[in-house]
Amino acid sequence: MGDYSGYVASSIELYFGIIAEGTLCENAKLNIKRVKPMLKCGECGILFERKPFSFECPSCGGQGSPTKIGHEFYIESIEI
Ligand SMILES: [Zn+2]
Repeated sequence: MGDYSGYVASSIELYFGIIAEGTLCENAKLNIKRVKPMLKCGECGILFERKPFSFECPSCGGQGSPTKIGHEFYIESIEI
């Protein structure tokens, strides 16, 4: 689950617990892996985490552009 997916992990866990009551999924555990948003440097091409109020690349000082990393929201696997 990307931090920019538009969903909050704690809310997903809360509502899953509520809707799972009385079903086969009751007491199932969710393992949520958070993905931090990454920027890609336009100069040297590395991926890096954005610091507050800055798009500056920590390696070369170039400007980073947003990527799709951090917007993920999908189920990777289910164990039964
Ligand atoms: Zn760079």
